Amino acid sequence: MKPITYKVEADILTHDKNPYQIVKELLRDSIKELNLSENIYHILKKPMRVLEVSLPVRMDSGEIRNFTGYRSQHLDVLGPTKGGIRFHPGVNCDEVKALSIWMSLKSAILDLPLGGGKGGVIVDPAELSERELEELSRTYIRKITPIIGPQKDIPAPDVNTNPQVMGWMVDEYDKLRGYNIPGMLTGKPIVIGGSQGRLEATGRGVVITIREAAKVTGINLRGATAALQGFGNVGSMTAKFLDELGVKVVAVSDVHGAIYAQEGLNIPELLSFVNAGNRITEYTKAQTIPNEDLFGLPVDIFVPAAIENQINEYTAPVIQAKIVAEAANGPTTPDGNKILEKKGVFIIPDILCNAGGVTVSYFEWVQNEMNYYWKEKEVNQKLEERMVESFYQVLTMRENNQINMRKAAYMVGLKRIVEALKARGWVKRTDFS
Ligand code: GLU
Repeated sequence: MKPITYKVEADILTHDKNPYQIVKELLRDSIKELNLSENIYHILKKPMRVLEVSLPVRMDSGEIRNFTGYRSQHLDVLGPTKGGIRFHPGVNCDEVKALSIWMSLKSAILDLPLGGGKGGVIVDPAELSERELEELSRTYIRKITPIIGPQKDIPAPDVNTNPQVMGWMVDEYDKLRGYNIPGMLTGKPIVIGGSQGRLEATGRGVVITIREAAKVTGINLRGATAALQGFGNVGSMTAKFLDELGVKVVAVSDVHGAIYAQEGLNIPELLSFVNAGNRITEYTKAQTIPNEDLFGLPVDIFVPAAIENQINEYTAPVIQAKIVAEAANGPTTPDGNKILEKKGVFIIPDILCNAGGVTVSYFEWVQNEMNYYWKEKEVNQKLEERMVESFYQVLTMRENNQINMRKAAYMVGLKRIVEALKARGWVKRTDFS
C-alpha cells in the first residue's frame, strides 16, 4: 500500500492566534494520528459555504449604519449544519469559519445527526438600543435566509445573543415564508417552540464534564474551589450548577472586571443581583480584582467561559487549577495548551465541554419537527446520558492512544465524520491505511 505522506502547508506552520489556523493545525494532526490520508484533511479544512452579508440599519439618530455579518457552513455529511450566531466587535470571517468547524466536531462527538455552522455580526450590541438590536437581528436573518432552513442550516444563540434575539429572528423568517417554521432555529423562547432546559443546557453540560473529570483526577468537588471567566449565559449557569454540587465559586468576571471572595461567593444571590440588571463589579459582598488576576488564583477548577485565546503563553504560566473546563469555544491557544499540559492540568476541551448547548438545541429541533414537547426532566436526563457517554468515549480514545484530551476529542469527532464521508463515497479505500 502507498505510504501516506503529509505535505507541509505554509499557512498552518505560522499559527498565531487566528482560530482558523489553529483549528486547521489540530485537524491535520488528528487526521495523521488516525492514520488517515491527507485527502481527508483537504476536504475538511474549508467550510463548504461561507456567506458575507451587508446589514444596513437605521439608527435611532436617523443615520444608517451598515454592519457586516457572516454565516459559515462547514460540512453537512452527517446532517443539516447547525450552530450559533454571535454579536461581537471581534467577529471576522476566519473566526466564524473556525467556529463552524468546531461545531462539526462537537455534533459528531455527541453523535448528533448534524453538521457544523456558525454565524456572526461585527457589532457591540451594548452600544445599540433595543429597537436597533431588533432591526439588526431581523436584517441579518433576512440576508442569510437563502442558505438556512430546518433541513439545511439551523442557527442558535452564541456570544451576546439570547432567546429574545432568537424570537425576533424566527418571527422574521416566518414572515418571509408565510407560515410558522419553529425548527429553523433553536434557543427560542419556550412559548414559541423553545425547549425546556435549553437556556441552562450549556452550563449544565459543562458541569457534567467537570463532575466526571473530578472523578478521573480524584478531586472531591464538595469544598473544591473554582474561578470563572465570563458571566454570560454559559458562565452564570456553570456557576449555578457548580454551586449546587458544593463547589465554592470564589471568583467570577465579565468584560467590566472581576470579583473575588475567598470564602466563596453566594451564587444564588449574585445571580439575582445580575438578573436585576446590575454589573458583577457593583456587588459589594466581594472584593473587586483586575481581570488578569483571575488566572493565577489558587483554585482547583478554572472555567474560561468568554471568548477565544484567553489561556495563552502569558496567562497559562500562572494558572494553578488542576482542571480547566473550556466552556467557551477556543479559549486556549496551542502555546497555552502546551504550558497547561506540562503542568499536568486536566483539560476538558471545548468541543466536548460546551457541547450541552447544541445537544439540547438538537432536542429542541426534534420537538419542533414532531410538534410534541418534553418535560424538563426528560430533556435533562437525555442530556446527562449523552454528555457522560461522550466524555468516556473521549477518555478511552485518550487512554488507548496515549494522547491528550483535545486530540482525543478531535479524533472521536473525526472518526464519525470520516465514516459518513466513506458511506457517501467521498473517500476511497486508499484514503485509509
Ligand atoms: N452557540 C452554541 C455552541 O457554540 C450552541 C449552538 C447550537 O445550539 O446550535 O455550541
